[in-house]
Amino acid sequence: MSPLVYTPLHEIEKIHADLEATFKSGKLQDIEYRKYVLAQLGYLVKDNFNAIELALEKDLGRPPLESEFVEINPTIDEAVIAYENVANWSKPVKPAFSSAWGATQRIVYKEGKGVVLVIGAFNFPLMTGLNPVISAIAAGNTVVYKPSEMTPATSALLSELLPKYVDRHVIHVVNGSIPETTKLLELPYGHVMFTGSGPVGRIVAGAVAKTLTPVTLELGGKSPVIIDPKSCDLPSTARRILFGKTHNSGQICIAPDYVIVPRYFQDTLVEALKKAYDEFFPEGPFAHRAMSRMINANAYNRLRGLVEKTEGEIVVGGEFKESIRGIAPTIVKNCTWTDALMSQEIFGPVLPLIPVDDLEEGLAHVRSNDVPLAVYVFSSDKRFQDKIRRETQSGSILFNDVVLQAIAEGLPFGGVGPSGSGGYHNGKYGFDVFTHDRASMNVHPLLTYSRLDSVLSFRFPPYLGRTFLMKHMAPALPKRPKGPPTKSSSSYGASTWVPIIVALFVAGGVAAQKTKVLSR
Ligand code: NAD
Repeated sequence: MSPLVYTPLHEIEKIHADLEATFKSGKLQDIEYRKYVLAQLGYLVKDNFNAIELALEKDLGRPPLESEFVEINPTIDEAVIAYENVANWSKPVKPAFSSAWGATQRIVYKEGKGVVLVIGAFNFPLMTGLNPVISAIAAGNTVVYKPSEMTPATSALLSELLPKYVDRHVIHVVNGSIPETTKLLELPYGHVMFTGSGPVGRIVAGAVAKTLTPVTLELGGKSPVIIDPKSCDLPSTARRILFGKTHNSGQICIAPDYVIVPRYFQDTLVEALKKAYDEFFPEGPFAHRAMSRMINANAYNRLRGLVEKTEGEIVVGGEFKESIRGIAPTIVKNCTWTDALMSQEIFGPVLPLIPVDDLEEGLAHVRSNDVPLAVYVFSSDKRFQDKIRRETQSGSILFNDVVLQAIAEGLPFGGVGPSGSGGYHNGKYGFDVFTHDRASMNVHPLLTYSRLDSVLSFRFPPYLGRTFLMKHMAPALPKRPKGPPTKSSSSYGASTWVPIIVALFVAGGVAAQKTKVLSR
């Protein structure tokens, strides 16, 4: 594997200018050309499946199956979906008929925005790198891709492969750390897609403001898990939560960060988590290819420090192996809201459990913290699920599983406020982020000049004596409401509709019976 070589700073402006020239040449307006690049990106990953897997293992100690499941296959899938749909997604859209504007031809053209800058994070180099690159190409942009310097093997491999599959004047990789990214951010773009931490997200947002570049921020946060002891399936709850903390060694932006559990149920959950741990790691978590490692010594020491400071009780794991930056999945019970483990995004395989006497206490804390990327609810009770959904806010909400929303076809992925802004993959959501909806209006030839002007002549000065016309043309409003509604619309949930549907069903059945009787 070749070493990672940083891009010389003085080359960055030239790279940007080349990509801008390609965009302005209109090359990417050709859908067939976009499809060619998308297919090439898919083949880049497929042809180099093993090499990518090995590079990810070298950087993150990640077992190959994990890479296949959440990175390699979903990235190929993203390329295939874009390839198959780009022609349709790019079609101009006609707004619905309007009597007021019927004499005009109104069209929204789907256009690329220009040069797109994609800045990736270390934890999922393909998902946070190639994935947005695919969406940006589908939308008709050229791309500067800046992978993370913390995954040197994967970043070097992608830098070597990309020019073999795609013209450098269409996608160009820039490698480096802070100086290179800072230089990149001085230039204007059609759009910037940044995936990373909140503090760096703030730096990026500040930098792009100077060039008025729109930005999508994919950040992190503390995603809570809420347990309903009355209706969750305990063994699968424990297995799935532990999966979210074990996969990529918990270095996932949407990893379950902490668990809110009724106090009386905490030990029952701990027993189930212990059982899942024994199932997952029969030879221990540090065995060959058992689980990923922390990305570097800083990340290892940061998390080890938090575990050493916790005032909770370690009931599962708690082992460290510095030589391989290994941290065993660690469950810590009896944590409080002010515990060291609650002071920041954990981003590793450590899971604090917070026992509560009352669900409302847990919800109040979730609401008072930064809006997380995800909320996880383990319950099969629809009312419980609805209550959590209505009373919290997050980028996504999952019931009875974790993490899978990131790769589920048809769902947007993104945060709210401190956890990010703008949803992109999967599929068309990514295309939309990098697309400019260009409004167009064409006045029908039969209505040009003399005729239309005679109809609409009131808009031309001098206005004197004509204002009464506009007052008469003010749009009609719905009937004035007598006051706020007495019943909130949200109360028309399943509890209201289910009895109505059942009643209609029963009534329908009775009617059908009667019909049968009559027709005999
Ligand atoms: P990071 O913020 O340290 O780095 C991300 C990128 O920013 C890297 O390419 C890096 O080179 C660049 N960078 C770092 N410091 C910079 C600076 N001062 N100025 C300009 N650029 C700079 O993030 P990370 O450690 O790679 O990733 C971990 C974080 O990313 C976690 O918080 C995680 O939750 C988040 N994340 C979010 C998502 C998502 O889709 N929402 C996905 C993966 C990771």
